[in-house]
This record gives sequence, structure tokens and C-alpha cells, in this order.
Amino acid sequence: MAIVGFIGLGNMGSALAANLVGAGHDVLTYDVSGPARNPDGATFVADAAEVARSTDVAVLSLPNGAISEQVSATLADTTERRVSRVLDTSTVGVSAARAIETRLGDVGVGYVDAPVSGGVAGARARTLMVMYAGTDDDCAAVEPVLAGLSDRRRRVGHRAGMAQAMKLANNFLSATALAAASEAVAFGLSVGLDLATMLDVLSTSSGQSAAITDKFTNHVLTGTYSSGFANTLMAKDLGLYLDAVRAQGTPSDFGTRTEATWTEFAGAEPGVDFTRIYPHLTGDEPS
Ligand code: NAD
Repeated sequence: MAIVGFIGLGNMGSALAANLVGAGHDVLTYDVSGPARNPDGATFVADAAEVARSTDVAVLSLPNGAISEQVSATLADTTERRVSRVLDTSTVGVSAARAIETRLGDVGVGYVDAPVSGGVAGARARTLMVMYAGTDDDCAAVEPVLAGLSDRRRRVGHRAGMAQAMKLANNFLSATALAAASEAVAFGLSVGLDLATMLDVLSTSSGQSAAITDKFTNHVLTGTYSSGFANTLMAKDLGLYLDAVRAQGTPSDFGTRTEATWTEFAGAEPGVDFTRIYPHLTGDEPS
């Protein structure tokens, strides 16, 4: 089996790296913050260059496109490089994915754009959707690593950036649904409806979405707000979505509104769990 590198052991990365170990891969990890979240069975190394020298496929789970570009440049510039493919699970946006593909391609390293959806709980349960795009050759080469990450995966295109477009469209819908559900629930509670009853009815009615069945049910109703996805990351994703939509010239009315809502939330309470949009928008915990 290929030796796999994993860079970025945050909320998502630590769960995905653990899945690779569980699938039987030899895993070498690195995170700029140190080894605190290194999964059992993985070997933490000194830097990204060591990942480039000692692994065949490097998986990234990094906060944004600028950092993915910087880490990919380090991998590309490492002498005595062993790594031949980079599999990027970060949400970096369409243009960053294309820039990284070119930067790595210049030195003969393949890039597979592979963002994920389903949260940290989905990663642990191996139900996370890995949507990926790349050449036939690169996708075939990383298939065993993709299989180690999750049981649910779908190739959506033949070039880097297409999976980012898929992911950004998904997160636009997710963010819009969660903000809209917050307003709908606040309205229902204001007229005396019970939150658990509302969620039960909405879960099996036409207003159903993951905002209701997952975010409200598991994080707002319980008061835990612990999905493991920061509001700043969602605001970043919506900015990337809007940039890409404007570049394509497709309609952006709802996108503009949703992006403004989340950017305001992330600015006011940076880094809190994104499910806290409910108390942020309504000024209250549900009761
Ligand atoms: P996070 O902030 O928890 O983790 C990011 C990790 O990257 C941190 O541990 C940080 O120390 C590390 N890092 C930063 N710069 C680095 C560098 N130069 N070299 C090495 N390590 C570096 O973020 P997360 O929630 O784990 O998200 C990671 C990516 O996955 C993001 O792009 C996010 O949009 C995406 N994502 C997250 C979720 C989720 O539920 N958390 C869901 C889908 C997609």
C-alpha cells in the first residue's frame, strides 16, 4: 500500500487521518500547530518537506486556498521528492484549485481536488461525501486513499476546480437553509410552538433539510453547538462561492444575501461553531 502523508490535523483532518490509519495505510502527519491531534498509529514528522520526501500521496486538510497553495509549493519545491500526487480535501475555491494544479503539474505532481461534506461526525462515521475531480490517471492513483477516507465518494469532473464548484454550491445551500431555518424557528417559537415538535414536523414535511434534521436537531435543540465547523470557515466558503458565481455571470441574488449574513456573523463572533447562527440571528437561545 502507498505511504500516505496528511497535512492539517484540525477538526476535520484529525478525523480523516484516523480513518486512513484505520484502513491500514502507513500515515505520516504534519500540522504547523504540533502533534496534539495526531491520531494513534500515525507518525508525526517535522515539516511538510518531510511529507514530500517520505510519502507517495499527500492529503491536505487546510483552512483556505492561500495555505493550500503555500503548502503545495513547499511540496513541489522539496528536493529528493517522493510524493507524486496531492489530494486536497480543503475547501479552497475554484481559482486556487486551478493554480495549485498548475504549480504541482509544473514539477510532475498530480493534483486531485477533493473537498468534503458531512461534518466531523460524518467523517468519523465514514459517511462523509468526498466529491473529487482530476485526470483519469491521478484519480485512479489516489483511489485507495479516497477509499481510506470515506465510504461515500463521487467523481464530479476531469479537472481541478470542478469539485470545488460542487462543494461551494453545496455550502451555499447549506448556509442559506440554516439561516432561513433560524428565522422560521424563531417565528414558530414566538407564536408558542414547541421546538422539538417543530423539528419533528419539519423533518418529515416539505421544509425538510439537513439544517433541520442535523444542525437544529443535534446542535441547537441540545444546546451543544458542537458540529466542529467554524462560522469563519463557512463565511470563507460563501465568499469563494460568490467570487466564482460572479466570474461565471450566473444569478447571485440569494448568494449575495447569504454571504452578507454569514460574513457579519463571522465578524461579530469569529471562530464559534456555525450552528450558533441561530442565537446570533435571533438574539436568543431556543426555549
Ligand atoms: P481547522 O481550522 O480545525 O484545521 C486546520 C488545521 O490546519 C489546523 O490544525 C492548523 O494548525 C493547520 N494548519 C494551518 N496552516 C498550516 C500549515 N501551513 N501547515 C500545516 N498545517 C497547517 O479546520 P477544519 O474545520 O479541520 O477544516 C479544514 C478544511 O476542511 C477547511 O478548508 C474547511 O473549509 C474544510 N471542511 C471542514 C468541515 C468541518 O466540518 N470542519 C467540513 C467540510 C469541509
